[in-house]
Amino acid sequence: MNFTNNIDWQKELKNNITSVGMLAELGYIDEKTRQKLDTLTQRYPMSIPRYYLDLIEKKDYSDPIFKMCIASLEEAQADGKVDTSGEQASTVTGGIQHKYDNTVLLLSTNVCAMYCRHCFRKRLVGLTENEILRFTDEALEYIAEHKEVDNVLITGGDALLNSNKVIERYLDGLSKIEHIKFIRFGSRTPVVFPQRISTDEVLIKLFEKYGKIKTIYLVTQFNHPRELTKEALLATDMLRQAGIPVLNQTVLLKGINDSPETLAALFNGLAANGISPYYLFQCRPVKGVKGLFAVPLLEAYDIVDSTRGRLSGIAKRFRFIMSHITGKLEILGKINDSTLVLKQHQARDNEDSNRIFTVEADVSSVWLDDSLGSAV
Ligand code: SF4
Repeated sequence: MNFTNNIDWQKELKNNITSVGMLAELGYIDEKTRQKLDTLTQRYPMSIPRYYLDLIEKKDYSDPIFKMCIASLEEAQADGKVDTSGEQASTVTGGIQHKYDNTVLLLSTNVCAMYCRHCFRKRLVGLTENEILRFTDEALEYIAEHKEVDNVLITGGDALLNSNKVIERYLDGLSKIEHIKFIRFGSRTPVVFPQRISTDEVLIKLFEKYGKIKTIYLVTQFNHPRELTKEALLATDMLRQAGIPVLNQTVLLKGINDSPETLAALFNGLAANGISPYYLFQCRPVKGVKGLFAVPLLEAYDIVDSTRGRLSGIAKRFRFIMSHITGKLEILGKINDSTLVLKQHQARDNEDSNRIFTVEADVSSVWLDDSLGSAV
């Protein structure tokens, strides 16, 4: 692998666009919008790597890349919940979530290379550290004590925004715990700031070394085919060459990828480049996100159904999922104009595992009530 273009990624991120003033100077927004967005970006911070900003083709909200990175006044809408899937209720102690018996999730940082406008952790990214893990050793001790846990998801924020030293502490500690069978890193850096990976020999060597002891996956989030650039694919190729499979979790987003053509181009592109399409998530009805990005469920199902018809077998392996308070629900089908068929794909309560049930949805519902429909 060639690392001749090494950059100091932490320094490079200091060049991010972080204020509406900078955006106005660069001509992405006008003066009137700048004034209105000032307060909003104090509530929901903005940070855009120069690399990602350069992917914008049209300097307006009709451009999907623009929408994913530049704040919009519609984020001020009050509708929606702060925590839609009960993350706070699954937290055993600061930064350690244990929702499913065999999986522990670590919120390792509240920082990301970019603050995606559709983020479901909008309540914390770039803001509070209250829900973030403070001591790596505390997490390692918890995992070592819980023998039912066979896998760990290190996320945030963005797990690859941790320094290599911190990443090595996780890898070294988890490698020594016998009952851990695999480790996942949740990171959008391959998409929004691939230089974090492609110019960092130390990181790649760490993955190579520890990937021989425990299976490591990198779980990322490509949402649009225009994100599959040569820079992004260089980063994912380097991970794969280091022995780290790359999985993708797309979020279905209104005005970004809510058409069968766009989703098919994305999933076929992922499959062609060795990135496994893993989940397609229904956008959660998060405050500041719901009105802007969530696609109604019935419409969403039709889009997904039509997408599958355009995909190769490899590209259609993804599941269409809602991360619900009861666990993960797979949206399997539609049996008339208003009835959806769902399956409990992962359950917080083991009694719910694998149950199949129907729910009635109206044309505008983007989410389900917490009390779920009748078992089929
Ligand atoms: S990288 Fe992930 S955690 Fe960070 S803002 Fe984007 S979606 Fe949210």
